[in-house]
Amino acid sequence: MMYLAQNYTKYPLWLTIDVEELEDANFGIQPKKKLHIDYAYLIDRWIGLCSKYDIHSTAFVLGSFAKKYPHLVRKLHEAGHEIASHGMYHELIYKIPFKEWKSQTIQAKKILEDLIGKEVRGYRSPSWTLPFEKKYYSTLRAMGFYYSSSYFPFKTYMYGNTIDKKEPFAIYTEHGKITEIPIPKYILPFSGGFYMRILPFWFIRYAMQKLINKGYKPIIYTHPYELLDNLFFKYIKDVKFDMAYILTFAHSANSLQRFKMLLEIYKDR
Ligand SMILES: [Zn+2]
Repeated sequence: MMYLAQNYTKYPLWLTIDVEELEDANFGIQPKKKLHIDYAYLIDRWIGLCSKYDIHSTAFVLGSFAKKYPHLVRKLHEAGHEIASHGMYHELIYKIPFKEWKSQTIQAKKILEDLIGKEVRGYRSPSWTLPFEKKYYSTLRAMGFYYSSSYFPFKTYMYGNTIDKKEPFAIYTEHGKITEIPIPKYILPFSGGFYMRILPFWFIRYAMQKLINKGYKPIIYTHPYELLDNLFFKYIKDVKFDMAYILTFAHSANSLQRFKMLLEIYKDR
């Protein structure tokens, strides 16, 4: 277990945040004007929320975000959150040539390591699009990644796999072992993003407890923009209202609230 995520311990859930800008979401939302989002405030909000419950998260930071807001990445690091990589530009991996993915991923890792002065060991692919193929895992391991959290056990039009995998599993490559930590599923994925916002909370709570009872440590994941209050209405005039808008923003007022409720449920365990 030594090469698993730095903050993958004790607490029954593994808290993760994918640190990217709202415009990076691959749903293709179309802003009518520049969206002003105060990322400094949102990162502080995350640090504050985690520290209230004395939990540290793993932050999968997008390279382009780190270039724009280096001080925020350092702040997360100094507050005890593990800095891991979310790739460079949030492109769907199957849409770019392998070589380009490789050079971008190397670049993104170096940006983070130069920023925090520490080795970056974890990787989560943009929109769960890492192909489940040995060549990608072997390349990640050669770059110096020890774990990935990119396996989505539910097939959607954009990403995902059909086979369910509940536990972290090792992939042996010619460069050594790399561990994949999959996203949890109980009938449906439920532990972050769109699913966490849309599904009824009783279901999320039930699914979470079911998996914990079986000895698993469910991942929960969020994004800085989900920590905004009333995101759905906040940008309704600034962004084209279409399916992309709904996928990105629907019920996002619930997101922070639900996170708090979950942290409250598991605070003493
Ligand atoms: Zn992302």
